[in-house]
Amino acid sequence: MKKAVALILAATMLGVMATGCGNDSSSSGSGSGGGAKGANTTVGVCIYKFDDTFMTGVRNNMTSQAKEKNVTLNIVDSQNKQPTQNEQVDTFITKGVNALAVNPVDRTAAESILKKAKEKSLPIVFLNREPEANVMKEYDKTWYVGAKAEQSGTLQGEVIADYFKKNKGADKNGDGKIQYVMLQGEPGHQDATLRTKYSIDAIQKAGLQVDKLGADTAYWDKAKATDLMNNFITSKGIDKIEAVLANNDDMALGAIEALKAHGYNKGDKSKYIPVVGVDATAAGLQAMKEGSMLGTVLNDAANQGKAAVNIAAAAAQGKKIDKDTIGYPITDDKYVWIDYVKVTQDNYQKYMK
Ligand code: BGC
Ligand code: CA
Repeated sequence: MKKAVALILAATMLGVMATGCGNDSSSSGSGSGGGAKGANTTVGVCIYKFDDTFMTGVRNNMTSQAKEKNVTLNIVDSQNKQPTQNEQVDTFITKGVNALAVNPVDRTAAESILKKAKEKSLPIVFLNREPEANVMKEYDKTWYVGAKAEQSGTLQGEVIADYFKKNKGADKNGDGKIQYVMLQGEPGHQDATLRTKYSIDAIQKAGLQVDKLGADTAYWDKAKATDLMNNFITSKGIDKIEAVLANNDDMALGAIEALKAHGYNKGDKSKYIPVVGVDATAAGLQAMKEGSMLGTVLNDAANQGKAAVNIAAAAAQGKKIDKDTIGYPITDDKYVWIDYVKVTQDNYQKYMK
């Protein structure tokens, strides 16, 4: 046993020497066992599906942060299938990763994944899809990195409210109410539920009245959103719709495709319906530049990706998780909340890369 430990230590030191000096990420640990070091830290990462615009941003930022921290990420695509993800977690555990970072397919499945990690005393960071609070309490080595869904809804609603206050003609039928349609994300996702609710609450808080013409899910997906928007246009009449709220930019862009196909949002001011999204993706910002999308809300993929890697790496290395070790303030010892930012014509350029 002692021999094995000595061998591992020697190998670790060789590894450190091989990667050169000047890297401080390997100099942690108390020496009291537990905790991988520096270049030998491997984090198993499951992303619910690679083919998601926002999560692709998070994933790319995780990869670059891992390089920065000199930790190895083993990232897999859960292909939107929870059973696949469960197997991936099992494989990571068998392989002996030092920490897990999981973006659940189904957030109600977080509990069983957490239990697997707990059995092995393996640190686990959840991201983007928030496990229930009681589940998070079941294990001391679990954390969540995300953003407050309510905040994104509120900011999005404020963008619409401002627009209607500044543009009296936007109330096309002059009935004092905003006739809107809502394109929702995946059912059960906290961001879908809360953005839908809080965006409308914010419009009402601003003193405006609303009239819901239609609301349905397009599963965060652009093509599905085009179909859904076409249904709304056919069933409600394009001239009756005064605003489009989408739970994310991909769906906002899908709705815009449908509007454009009907001659709307192409530059003619008499044929314009304000559309808002969330995420501030590159394509979303481009649509703001061209004037087809009114506004969005920055969902900060860079900081979410960074924070997730920082926590996983620090926890894997046996460090205490606090602001000093991860670089982000932590709430209730478990949550890192990254702020959303309202994106309008005044500031969108700041977020273009
Ligand atoms: C983003 C969506 C994304 C979803 C994936 C949300 O926070 O706004 O664009 O599809 O997360 O879980
Ligand atoms: Ca109206």
